[in-house]
Amino acid sequence: MRTLGHLPYYEVDPAIPADSLTTALTLVFVAVIIVLAVALAWLLVALKRRQLVRGSSDALNRLEELNSRSRSLVPSANPISHAYSVSVNTKAKFDRFDLPSRMSVNVLESELWYLQEIEMRLAPTRFFRTYNLDFEAIEFGSLGRSSHPRLRDEKYAAIEKKDFHRRKLAYPTPTARIITTVRYTSPKGQNSYSKHVEWNFEQLQHGLHAAQASRARQSTTAALRQRERSLMTSGLRVTILKRDDYRCRMCGASAADGTVLHIDHITPVSHDGLTVPENLQTLCQSCNLGKSNRFVG
Ligand SMILES: [Zn+2]
Repeated sequence: MRTLGHLPYYEVDPAIPADSLTTALTLVFVAVIIVLAVALAWLLVALKRRQLVRGSSDALNRLEELNSRSRSLVPSANPISHAYSVSVNTKAKFDRFDLPSRMSVNVLESELWYLQEIEMRLAPTRFFRTYNLDFEAIEFGSLGRSSHPRLRDEKYAAIEKKDFHRRKLAYPTPTARIITTVRYTSPKGQNSYSKHVEWNFEQLQHGLHAAQASRARQSTTAALRQRERSLMTSGLRVTILKRDDYRCRMCGASAADGTVLHIDHITPVSHDGLTVPENLQTLCQSCNLGKSNRFVG
């Protein structure tokens, strides 16, 4: 008998009777529980095995000892990180901006800091070589030599080997990220331009060494030039004046004409000319000035 308030259940979905749906759900539930229980049991067994291996493995114990000695000396290295930024006020300056040179200048200005930071990251890599030798000594001397009565030897060896390599300290790869950026924004802020160079650890090391070498060359050159200038003694001046008969070697003017005579480096000191008689000549002031205009450098 059908009434609006008491529709029999099978009329809603006659294909699955209520009791078989419950049964199916129960089965799924039980299956899930069984799978979980098996997984958990497997996990516990695996953990127990690892515990047994860890407790009895000579290699793992030695490695643990080595690691606790070494951990502070082989820290995981954080990158050397710094960002420089410069703004220019014209597009032309932006276009010809020499980013690599600016980077060199920036790095050289904080030279000592960078050298320390680099050393702090290189020291662990040097120490790691020692660590690696000790690690290999254990690997070849002890790994695979232990066993446990409750584990098959192959199983024991497999677990031990896996754990042994998993526990090796990571190589402290030195890293750096040094960035120099140049920006230009047009007057009304309509256009913005930016470009940058980035140095990694190797580039930082190389760039710093190159900048130091270039600075050393410059200061050597400056010192040599200073020395050449200091060799210009009054005795030498007189020698050259006498040799040139107190006359300008270019126009022949003499002190008698009221001309001031100079001793001139034929090849300028700034062009690596030496202070020796062969490279010296007497010139009047105007010839000397005319000459120095030709030598711009
Ligand atoms: Zn002259």
